[in-house]
Amino acid sequence: DVTATKGNEFEDYLLKRELLAGIYEKGFEKPSPIQEESIPIALTGRDILARAKNGTGKTAAFSIPVLEKIDASREEIQALILVPTRELALQTSQVCKELGKHMGVEIMVTTGGTSLRDDIVRLGSPVHMVVATPGRILDLSSKGVANLSNCRVLVMDEADKLLSPEFQPVIEDLIRQLPKDRQILLYSATFPVGVKQFKDKFLKKPYIINLMEQLTLKGLTQYYAFVEEKQKVHCLNTLFSKLSINQSIIFCNSVNRVELLAKKVTELGYSCFYIHAKMMQSHRNRVFHDFRNGHCRNLVCSDLFTRGIDIQAVNVVINFDFPKSSETYLHRVGRSGRFGHLGLAVNLITYEDRHSLYRIEQELSTEIQPIPAAIDRQLY
Ligand code: ADP
Ligand code: MG
Repeated sequence: DVTATKGNEFEDYLLKRELLAGIYEKGFEKPSPIQEESIPIALTGRDILARAKNGTGKTAAFSIPVLEKIDASREEIQALILVPTRELALQTSQVCKELGKHMGVEIMVTTGGTSLRDDIVRLGSPVHMVVATPGRILDLSSKGVANLSNCRVLVMDEADKLLSPEFQPVIEDLIRQLPKDRQILLYSATFPVGVKQFKDKFLKKPYIINLMEQLTLKGLTQYYAFVEEKQKVHCLNTLFSKLSINQSIIFCNSVNRVELLAKKVTELGYSCFYIHAKMMQSHRNRVFHDFRNGHCRNLVCSDLFTRGIDIQAVNVVINFDFPKSSETYLHRVGRSGRFGHLGLAVNLITYEDRHSLYRIEQELSTEIQPIPAAIDRQLY
């Protein structure tokens, strides 16, 4: 459960009093889970590879230990925080400035799209900490204006983006400018290959933190109905008429089938949106947003949608086409459990799907029961 903390207090980390004052002035009372995991480890100097959802307090999770490590009496760049965008750089530096308000730490923010000359002038006076997008700080350091040879802490926020092919060479050049005994703190919501390769190449025995929510089948009642392929729509119609659907998501195994089914569902007289991988991202986002806001009761989709399906109003998931793997099944019907909401999953099973049904049941150690004539409303 990502919301569960160990009950630590910011006092427990023995931070400088000036830093603690900044934390409390910012209104933070207790560390969030990612902060509880990160702060004490980061303070020991160990590399960290952390994975946590958005909005869980990652900024302070790295800013607090970084600020703690700054020695304001030494007039040199001691920490570099890299972020992929200008807006994020501004926001992150703002958080650092607030947290470090009483510490006398000089924080500089530098990104592309602003005057290079201003940055050069700024670097003429003391800077302890830089928040930057990669290109600009590399530029400044290559020109000999920013000296990174004493910068012992590197933070990479939104590391999945920073390590995409677009940025990767710049990042590697930057790391070569840092001292050998540097510490790297890396935060990311996902771990694509770029992040894995980077970890193997540059991190020293990183402490791994993974606070992504585990999907579970807790609170979910799972049924199956044996049907022939050509009866599926009829069966769906029956389900619509029998179930008390708050919102539903209906999965198909291909883009074509999503479009066809969405059309049929509409013809049956039920409101429905659809979403699949061949649609433009902006269009998908809009549909997803509108569905989340309750503008439509039913959503027909392909597996594109299986990530981040945590829409609390969805009480029924229907596998119009049964998935091939237990992983996909779990992503489709699994929920993040922690809210304790109930739900119903109904699987339409053709003759060919039988083996998959039994296998997935086994692999997930769960029970998918034959659908009863009447379904207890209390269950979902
Ligand atoms: P992330 O980077 O994980 O998406 P942020 O660092 O942007 O999350 O933090 C999300 C919000 O939570 C911010 O508004 C931040 O001020 C707030 N926040 C972070 N840590 C705490 C805390 N310990 N107590 C209260 N609010 C916090
Ligand atoms: Mg963030």
